Amino acid sequence: MVLSKVFCSKCGNPRENFELLCSVCNSPFIIRVSGPYEREIAGNFDYFTKPLIEIGTRTPIITEEKFKAKLEYYNPTLSYKDRGMNTLFSFLNEKGYLNSVDSYCEDSSGNAGASFAFFSNILNLNSTVFASRTANLNKLKQIEEYGSKLVKVTGNRSAVENAAKNSGMKYLGHQYWPEFYDGFRAISYEIFEQSEKIPDDIIIPFSTGTLYLGVFEGFSHLFQNGLIGRIPTLWAIQPERASGMYNHLNGIEKNTRPSVADALTGVLPLRHALLSSVIKSYGRCETVSETEIINAKRELLKMGLDCEYSSSVTYAAFKKYNLDENTLLLLTGHGMKNVGSMNHRMR
Ligand SMILES: [Zn+2]
Repeated sequence: MVLSKVFCSKCGNPRENFELLCSVCNSPFIIRVSGPYEREIAGNFDYFTKPLIEIGTRTPIITEEKFKAKLEYYNPTLSYKDRGMNTLFSFLNEKGYLNSVDSYCEDSSGNAGASFAFFSNILNLNSTVFASRTANLNKLKQIEEYGSKLVKVTGNRSAVENAAKNSGMKYLGHQYWPEFYDGFRAISYEIFEQSEKIPDDIIIPFSTGTLYLGVFEGFSHLFQNGLIGRIPTLWAIQPERASGMYNHLNGIEKNTRPSVADALTGVLPLRHALLSSVIKSYGRCETVSETEIINAKRELLKMGLDCEYSSSVTYAAFKKYNLDENTLLLLTGHGMKNVGSMNHRMR
């Protein structure tokens, strides 16, 4: 039986209740699992008994001539975020934190908001998403389609977060809950179950690092169990314009700007200290230009891989760093998320 433990990333203090940050040192919480790996993927999550939707969704892994790709847009809201929202909402629901009397809110650049709205709808929650006024319109429409209220905020990412936190509603900011990023462990388990040979390199779009951290923890668990010989090299890819983690790792001070890859915000991640050490030990953090991202999306479309710009950063990096055929790209969101919202025609 797998056992998970939630504790402060800095001082190790355990989480006592539902606090968002450590009550001793104000640092974010992390989650660690130990114990035997279960072939039934849901069995590797011990903090709920009945997930709201299936845990191991087994999104397809396809083989192209030069690379493999896991199509994470085969999730209910067309993005991988559903995996994290599923584990988070399943946990909070079973612990009695969610009810039909209170109101709940979230802040998001789009995909997380759509997923939050989807799970709120499953549980009939009164929910609101705070988003930047400049956010991707398709994603904002998707949020409303699932029945959440939408509040558009003028200002940067922290202005949106503050508006949500000060709204008087219960704040479910997904960044803070380790049960959110922990849901992405399932991606690593599926790669293990679906592949004859574990990829040497996995290329991951990187914004706030939750996907990266979850994938790392999944492979780390498989490695602890002696099921893989090494953890694949995990590439963290950011747009040059929105490269908060890359800048932090390289001592660069630079303001971030919006990228065509609108899901990748470029803020310094909440768990940047932990992410720095994981990236230095197990991966690389690199950037790609707007032109490289747009060209990558164009080429992926021709292969029948219709993903959003934020996912095509992976193929841009694959080409830029001349990786080989035992590389797997995580294509995180569907191209419909960008239809009509960008001005880059594909021909
Ligand atoms: Zn602490």
